[in-house]
Amino acid sequence: MAIVHCAGSLDQEHRPYCSGICCDYAFKFNHLIEKKLPGTRVLHLYKELVMPGKEEFALYQHARHNPNAAFVRYAPGGVRVTGSEGKAAVEYEDSAGNRGCVTVDMVVLCPAVTGAEDGGDLSRTLGTPRDRFGFFEELHGRMDSAQSRIKGIYLAGACQAPMDIQRAVSQGMSAAGYALSGLADGRKLEIEPITATVDETRCSGCRTCGSVCPYQAISYPPEGREAWVNALLCHGCGTCAAACPSGAIRGNHFTNEQILAEIEAVLA
Ligand code: SF4
Ligand code: SF4
Repeated sequence: MAIVHCAGSLDQEHRPYCSGICCDYAFKFNHLIEKKLPGTRVLHLYKELVMPGKEEFALYQHARHNPNAAFVRYAPGGVRVTGSEGKAAVEYEDSAGNRGCVTVDMVVLCPAVTGAEDGGDLSRTLGTPRDRFGFFEELHGRMDSAQSRIKGIYLAGACQAPMDIQRAVSQGMSAAGYALSGLADGRKLEIEPITATVDETRCSGCRTCGSVCPYQAISYPPEGREAWVNALLCHGCGTCAAACPSGAIRGNHFTNEQILAEIEAVLA
């Protein structure tokens, strides 16, 4: 048997990221095969081995101690699988440039984890943006991955990024906590101290601002042509003010001149 890790992951032409769970389940297969089919030879072909965490590393060590397991690090694009008459041939080039070929009864491919194909419909319905790989965008990748870019919409699991069950459960608990805390009796909604405001007399209704706002905070009420900023959704990032061709948007509490003066002082 051959197990091909990183199939499509860590590949600049496909998915440049590590899918995070492939090595995990590849070594689970090793464990199952050793238990149910003792003596079966297993070849692990990998680009990188990523096994953080105590339980995950124990799986890796178990596979390493399987006397019937072999490990080959392959070069990018260095694996090709063909098959005929119930057998598969796996050709590979290892990271040192040596070529090899094995005939096996079964190949397990560990493909890249990607965003769900129908996630676009949900994204359009909720107005919640996705990244270029189809995952829903989090508020902050390191500090706050359970909140989406839109206030009141929370994320949990592989809709946000490739992840294992343990991380998905933790993120789900965090998302549930956010949702529950927002429903606490008498709790007031907080808004950012700095939000964008539109000068209606200068706005031409060109809709540039709505197309660049990363938080879907700008809309255009049907009764008027001017842009309208929902202060609850606005994060005060200033993207719209920079993009507005009419200079109709500014952050409250600051004039554009004050902000420019600050930038000039920093750059001086
Ligand atoms: S970009 Fe400026 S002018 Fe255009 S709709 Fe927005 S506020 Fe109005
Ligand atoms: S300041 Fe940022 S978040 Fe607020 S409306 Fe403008 S682009 Fe959207």
